[in-house]
Parts: sequence; structure tokens; C-alpha cells
Amino acid sequence: MTQERRYSFEFFPTKTDAGHEKLLATARTLASYNPDFFSCTYGAGGSTRDRTLNTVLQLENEVKVPAAPHLSCVGDSKEELRNLLVQYKDAGIKRIVALRGDLPSGMGMASGELRYANDLVEFIRQESGDHFHIEVAAYPEMHPQARSFEDDLINFVRKANAGADSAITQYFFNADSYFYFVERVEKLGVKIPVVPGIMPITNYSKLARFSDACGAELPRWIRKQLEAYGDDAKSIQSFGEEVISRMCEQLLQGGAPGLHFYTLNQAEPSLAIWNNLKLPR
Ligand code: FAD
Repeated sequence: MTQERRYSFEFFPTKTDAGHEKLLATARTLASYNPDFFSCTYGAGGSTRDRTLNTVLQLENEVKVPAAPHLSCVGDSKEELRNLLVQYKDAGIKRIVALRGDLPSGMGMASGELRYANDLVEFIRQESGDHFHIEVAAYPEMHPQARSFEDDLINFVRKANAGADSAITQYFFNADSYFYFVERVEKLGVKIPVVPGIMPITNYSKLARFSDACGAELPRWIRKQLEAYGDDAKSIQSFGEEVISRMCEQLLQGGAPGLHFYTLNQAEPSLAIWNNLKLPR
């Protein structure tokens, strides 16, 4: 992988030792592809605070790939966020994915002192100056709670203006939505790179459920095809690889500054796409 475009892989911290070992094995496999960084999600409200921290430190120090913790403000106090920032800084972590987050149902109302991701970006800059490269989230198909697409664009601009260095998108299956989003935010003065988030297709029902929840559109032609495959995992896999690889090529040819893979802690689906790309990298 070259440094001209950036490539990264995202993990989630696991609850079991076996899951954690699998995550590390996946990370070691992906490390041999020389990615720019790994990232590790954070459970809003601090539910994964220690696990995210430990995973990131292991990825950075043992797997030896720069690792970026996700950090969300919706359920954490400023004091809790400050402590985490100090721990990350002291550990030599240089990149953070700054989010509002979503509290899991049952955790009640947001109790954090910072309400939106732009507040968190501002807070990180106040606390740590330019130490961290700050990533924020972008939604080419609009954040599900946004009042309107236009409103969501303005809120994205707030994050860039608050000091974000780059953005990673929610996944999507329609490259035009990405190109349109980038064109619109550039017209609003945003200069930071917006890297497409890529979700491999491996399982129809999980993907459909997840897409509904996060507001990503699963196009009818993809849905119908996946439905038709039923339990035929092999066909789903090869169709998914083909569709997503072609979309990645389209994105990179159209100027996307890299790719960020949602690995769900598995190496093969992302690597299948990666190895399938017919582009010089
Ligand atoms: P924001 O940018 O704050 O936006 C949230 C909503 O509020 C939007 O509708 C926006 O239009 C609106 N809004 C934003 N700012 C303002 C403002 N100043 N005034 C009024 N309205 C505003 N979730 C996790 O819990 N943990 C993770 O690790 C995690 N990682 C993610 C990684 C990526 C790359 C992406 C794309 C998402 C991730 N998420 C994660 C999901 C994310 O937390 C949710 O989508 C959440 O609902 C919004 O977070 P945000 O940072 O985009 O919020």
C-alpha cells in the first residue's frame, strides 16, 4: 500500500479472551499489507473504555501498526474524556476518531457534558493542541437523526471547522452519494480528506438490519440478489466481493483519498476486496 492514498482497518473491542485473540490474529494478517492505521471502536457511555484502550495499545505496541481509538462524548464527562486523552497521549497514540456516539438502549438520556461531535473536536484541541490527528464521521446518505440533508452538511462543516483533520464515511453502496457529498462540502469550504468507509458484504440479514439502523441504503438490486441466494454463503460472498470491489475502484478512480474497511474483526472479507481491486495502488 502506498502512502499517496490512505488505507485503514477498523476493529471492535471484544468481550471474551477468544474474541480478543481472533482480533489480534486478524490485525497481524492485515498488518502485512502495511496499512496506514488501525482503529478501534468505543462503546458510547464508556462501556468499552478499558477494552478500547487496551486493544489500541496492543495494536500499536505489539502488532506495530499506528492505532486510533474511537472516542465518543455522548455519555462521558469532560473529566473522563480528559483522562483518556492523557492516557492516549502518554502512550504515544497520535490519532483519534472523534464521535458523538449513540447510547445503547437502556442507558437512558445522554449524560455527557459535550453534546455533539464538533464539541468533542473542540475539546480535544483545547486539551491536547495539535497532538492528535482528529478523524470525524461523515454521512453521504445523511445521518439518520439529521433534520435534513442540508442541515447535516452544515453540521459536518462544523466538525471540520472545529479542527478535524480528516473524515471517514458511514458505509454506502452507491458511489454517487459519496461524490455528491464531497462536492457539496467542498463548496462549503471544507478542505479535509473524506475517506469512504467500506463494508464488505458477507451476510444478508445482518447487513439489512444494520443498514436500517444506521441509515445506509441497501439498493434494491443488491437486496434482491442477496435474498435470492438464501443460505448460499459462497454465492453471497463472491457477489459481495465483486460489487464492493467494483465500487472501490470507482471511488478511487473518482479521486477518493483512500479506503477505510469495517472489518468486523475478520481479515478475509476486506482482503478479498483488496486483492480484487484492479488498480495500481
Ligand atoms: P454528530 O456529528 O454530532 O452528529 C449527530 C447528529 O446531530 C446528526 O444528525 C447531525 O446532523 C446533528 N448535529 C451535529 N452537530 C450538531 C450541532 N452542533 N447542532 C445541532 N445538530 C447537530 N458509534 C459509537 O458509539 N462508537 C464508535 O466507535 C463509532 N464509530 C464510528 C465510526 C465511523 C467512521 C462512523 C461513520 C460512525 C461511528 N459510530 C460510532 C456511529 C456514530 O457514533 C453515530 O452515527 C452517532 O449517531 C453520530 O455520531 P457523530 O459523531 O456522527 O455525531
